[in-house]
Amino acid sequence: MTSRSFLPLVLAGAIAMGGVTLVAGPADAARPERTVPVRLLTINDLHGNLEPPSGSASRILDPKGPLVDADGKLTGIVGGRYSIAGGAAYLATHLKQHTGRNTMVVAAGDLIGASPLISAAYHDEPTLDVLGQMGLKASSAGNHEFDEGYTELQRLMKGGCHPVDGCSPAGEWEGTDFDFLGANVLKERNDRYALPPYFVKSVNGVKVGFIGLVTATTPTIVSSSGIQGLKFTEEVAAANKVSRLLARQGVKAQVVLVHEGDQVTPNQDPSACSVTPGNGSRIASGLDPQVDVVVSGHSHQAYVCKTTDPAGQPRYYTQGSSFGRVLTQIDFQVDKRTRDVVRSTVAAANHVVTRDVPEDRAVADSVALWKARSADIANKQVGRITAEIGTTAAPSGELPLGNLIADSQLEATRTGGNAQIAFMNPGGVRMPLNHPSSPAGEGDGVVTYGEAFAVQPFNNLTQVITLTGAQLKTVLEQQFVGGPNNQAFTKILQPSSNFTYTYSRSAPWGSKVSAMKIDGVAVTDTQSIRVAVNNFLVGGGDAFAELKNGTDLWSGPLDIDAFVDYLGKHSPVAPPATDRITVVD
Ligand SMILES: [Zn+2]
Repeated sequence: MTSRSFLPLVLAGAIAMGGVTLVAGPADAARPERTVPVRLLTINDLHGNLEPPSGSASRILDPKGPLVDADGKLTGIVGGRYSIAGGAAYLATHLKQHTGRNTMVVAAGDLIGASPLISAAYHDEPTLDVLGQMGLKASSAGNHEFDEGYTELQRLMKGGCHPVDGCSPAGEWEGTDFDFLGANVLKERNDRYALPPYFVKSVNGVKVGFIGLVTATTPTIVSSSGIQGLKFTEEVAAANKVSRLLARQGVKAQVVLVHEGDQVTPNQDPSACSVTPGNGSRIASGLDPQVDVVVSGHSHQAYVCKTTDPAGQPRYYTQGSSFGRVLTQIDFQVDKRTRDVVRSTVAAANHVVTRDVPEDRAVADSVALWKARSADIANKQVGRITAEIGTTAAPSGELPLGNLIADSQLEATRTGGNAQIAFMNPGGVRMPLNHPSSPAGEGDGVVTYGEAFAVQPFNNLTQVITLTGAQLKTVLEQQFVGGPNNQAFTKILQPSSNFTYTYSRSAPWGSKVSAMKIDGVAVTDTQSIRVAVNNFLVGGGDAFAELKNGTDLWSGPLDIDAFVDYLGKHSPVAPPATDRITVVD
């Protein structure tokens, strides 16, 4: 039907343009276009990096890169050339430079959460403000969008001031111009969507549908208190349901934005496909054939892959690293008649967000303004200390500040997580808390939010797992260099004050640890113990492989929140003794 009524128009067009055709070239070029070109520019896992990230977080393998390190010096990094990348003002310039006909900027989640203080100071309103300036149209929700809870995510989308901290210095928050999508985020009560499942954009007479998904593992990696009453369902089935709905509404060009992805083999071109197939590939290849492109995130890797959909057609599957270091450009043609993507026309590539372009003025000004505003939060008093609480290890390996952090995490996880003891990884204690009486001669006994954030800048979650007494002993054995878990250095976990034990320097690996006690009571091999550690350790970080075998995972508040709370409640805080571990020869 449509083709019949369409036909005369095509002929009329061809005839009218006939004269031009002879001069201009092939007849095809003169016909009214049958397809509409669309370009997507995509990012993921920005994590509030408004300022250019530094150190290893700024480096990205780039075949066109100048082979420099983060300080701009020449290095001999094995495996390829690197660029220093990222920074919102540079990202904005790169986005503009890649903007062509019918371009849309979309994203695959974790744009906010686990962000630096410049953004975290005002609940990530700064980042959402800047993303709005960049013209972001839609993003899937990521797990980190739920860091401060579902209610807070809704406030960020809809507007209004923070219920506890009030308005930012910019005034009442107006909400985002784009939605965080979640086709697999449902309300437990009635199975209704908790977030908009899709977004449809008309471009030149064709409609492009975006379906958002967040990793179904979200409940195991975000604080449980913030997502009560929500369920995160299997991604493929959730997206396929929406895909069918969109197709019935005539939206045949479909893009899935999914906050889940794969790992890659190291030192690959950002546009290469070197993924180790995991959850990301499972989703990318399992989605309904109606889905034309899959944009992913979460694993902070860069890749451009061509998978095969269930109908045997090639389908692109991409990710653009993290922290705004890479943007992905995806081009395709949409057939005006079928309204679907012409799969053979899809092309995708990753571009490194280098810093050799001029900064976008407007975005640079916004970033500078939020930087100045965040100073107010950085200077806010959160507690007081009686003396320096340092990061110098006692002979046992305990750091006074490490012990204090363990105490703060135990206190934050007793209720809800039923934690009995806590451990902090020593490498996560970044800076001492100074005091006038300290040799450093700095500080005044007042701890500011900025100082606390400098100690705990990673936005790790406090979590609680169950271990048996025997497993706990294995964990502590894994602190020592060597052993089957290949611990490269001895790393002594910082224990909470109610946990004590002894280790022997000379005993062989595997029988170093003895006399474990909780609240003075000896630990038995078969006893179940609720242990608070951060999500880095729960994942087996620092080669603590046994922690991965914990059960009944519960997620609590962010470590920085637990720390700030503790400082507030116990001020003035004295440096804890380093007597929790006894060392014998
Ligand atoms: Zn994530």
